[in-house]
Amino acid sequence: MPPPAFSATAGRRHDAWAFRLARTGDWLRRHQRAVRRLQWGVVIIYAVLLIGPNLIPLPGRSAHVWNDLTLFAQFVFWGIWWPGVLLSMLLFGRLWCGLLCPEGALSEAVSRRGRGRATPRWMRWPGWPFAAFVLTTVYGQLVSVYQYPGPALVILGGSTVAAIVVGYLYGRNHRVWCRYLCPVNGVFGLLAKLAPMHYGADMEAWARTAPDQGRTTQVTCAPLVPLRGLDSASGCHMCGRCAGFRDAIELRPRAPGSEVVQRGGLATRWESLLTITGLMGVAPGAFLWSASPWFIAIKLQLASWLVDAGILWPLQARLPWWLLTDYPGRNDVMTVLDGATLLIFVFAAAGVLTLAIAAPLLVAARILGPLRDLRRFHHLALALLPVAACGVILGLSAQTVTLLRADGVALPWVPEARATALALASSWSVVLLWQIAGRYARRSRRAIAALAGAGGIIAGLSPWLLLFWVW
Ligand code: SF4
Repeated sequence: MPPPAFSATAGRRHDAWAFRLARTGDWLRRHQRAVRRLQWGVVIIYAVLLIGPNLIPLPGRSAHVWNDLTLFAQFVFWGIWWPGVLLSMLLFGRLWCGLLCPEGALSEAVSRRGRGRATPRWMRWPGWPFAAFVLTTVYGQLVSVYQYPGPALVILGGSTVAAIVVGYLYGRNHRVWCRYLCPVNGVFGLLAKLAPMHYGADMEAWARTAPDQGRTTQVTCAPLVPLRGLDSASGCHMCGRCAGFRDAIELRPRAPGSEVVQRGGLATRWESLLTITGLMGVAPGAFLWSASPWFIAIKLQLASWLVDAGILWPLQARLPWWLLTDYPGRNDVMTVLDGATLLIFVFAAAGVLTLAIAAPLLVAARILGPLRDLRRFHHLALALLPVAACGVILGLSAQTVTLLRADGVALPWVPEARATALALASSWSVVLLWQIAGRYARRSRRAIAALAGAGGIIAGLSPWLLLFWVW
């Protein structure tokens, strides 16, 4: 038991932190107009960075990040924006979605004057977050989205147009697109579970206070989160509009990862699939293929079979740039064979990694109890989120490193920084495994299950070790 003086100080610090967070939530609620102005500012920056590079020629040899809009936009989008957004999910929950995301802002703005139809059933299919993430990731690789402005416009701009159309057709003052179809909604929802803050409802205060009392009485939750019993950060966009509703809802601190441990028993198979196959399978596959000697080996083998069979068109056939990378002026062309090899590589990598990560988790879940409904397996899968998030952030930031090195910026500390990040993320995952196992078993069974589950962490680290240190 810690000495009382320490406990009191820690308690006071926690109270001060909780008080400040609650005040921040209230401040946000009272400043929604400023938030909207901020959102329109981001919409303008987003439009310039997305459309501008498509109006000028591709960068020449002497172009740099600081003197060419295309390279600058690449650097900002893939080097700063996306890794920063993912990191922000771990730190602040989905604050990005509620305060800054241009798609969400546009979709909600349009829905104010739209048709306001009910959300169709097909849209509510729980597999969309996984399917949309996988399709977007793989398609992005086929068209080289990180390298060229056209594919970036097709993917990011296409998603924005879809968000606006959905906003116009469905929901009133809501973000139906964000809730059901946004390709990164599922990933953001998973990462936000690790955040050290969330909006939560105190059910005693809720019962005491009528809806027409409290610091606010009018709430429209844009992403359609049920406010009664609000506890999870997954669907909440942290917009602050409900802060003070029935004097029960507040922005609150919590232990990082506590939602994964305490509420992870409710995780679904789609969340496991997105964590293991999506974030730890398809995503590493998409980052790995271009550096992999195995990709070359598969391609050579396929080419040799095709030549032996007298089928030569896949080795020469090209497709439009919006289907398959096609920039002959820059010596960057993917043939149909290249595209097919890429698909084989990414899906094979995803399959192998899924098996390698899921098998130890299944063993761990079995040690903790019967496997009947896989509830324990889904719960344990969430423990891998720190490693999954760290891998994807490092994969994206590799783009930043490449661009900066191409411009002569030496970054000698990068390997150590990557190793440290992966080590910290793995340690966090081990702690989560231990805490989750402790909810189902004690002593030796708990320890053996956590040890078995750690095999999933090692398997999840393997593609990043190959990419950053072996190839
Ligand atoms: S629950 Fe809804 S209204 Fe409340 S902060 Fe989250 S997104 Fe905003």
